[in-house]
Amino acid sequence: MKSKPDELKQKMDCFRAALQRRGVKATPQRALIFQEVAGLENHPDAVTIYKAVREKLPMVSLDTVYRNLWLLQDLGLIRILGARDRVRFDGNMKAHHHFVCKACGLMCDFYSSAFDRLKIPSAVKSLGAGEIIQVEIKGICVACSKKSKIKPAKISR
Ligand SMILES: [Zn+2]
Ligand SMILES: [Zn+2]
Repeated sequence: MKSKPDELKQKMDCFRAALQRRGVKATPQRALIFQEVAGLENHPDAVTIYKAVREKLPMVSLDTVYRNLWLLQDLGLIRILGARDRVRFDGNMKAHHHFVCKACGLMCDFYSSAFDRLKIPSAVKSLGAGEIIQVEIKGICVACSKKSKIKPAKISR
C-alpha cells in the first residue's frame, strides 16, 4: 500500500518546512527515511525502514535510522506507535484510527468522524495528560480470513 504521489509530495513539502523552521538540515538520508515512513502506509518498524533505506543508501546504519526517526517524531512529522521495544512508525498525521489483524499483525488506517468526536474519559486524568484518541480495532483481516476459511464439518447422525 503506497500513498498517492501528490499526497507524498505534499508530505515532503511539510518535511522540508518543518526542518527549516527548526534549523535542521534536510540531508538526503533524513529525507529518504521520512519518505519511507510517509510512503509506506503499513506502519513499518525501524528495521523495515532501515532495510528499505539501505537499498538506496548502503552506508546508512540502523543507529542513524533510529536517531532520525526520533527526530522526525520530535518535529511532529511522524507518530510512534506501541512500546519503545517494539515500536512502529506512522507517517499519517491526519486524525485516524487503526485496524490491527491478530493473525498477521497488519495495521491499517481508517477514518471515522464518530471516533474523532470521542472525549478522553476522566479516568485517564490520574494516568497522565491525554493528547489524542486513537482507536484500535483488533480482528482478522480479509486476507487472513480467506486463508483460514475452513469448510464447516458435516454433522452426520
Ligand atoms: Zn491478517
Ligand atoms: Zn496509522
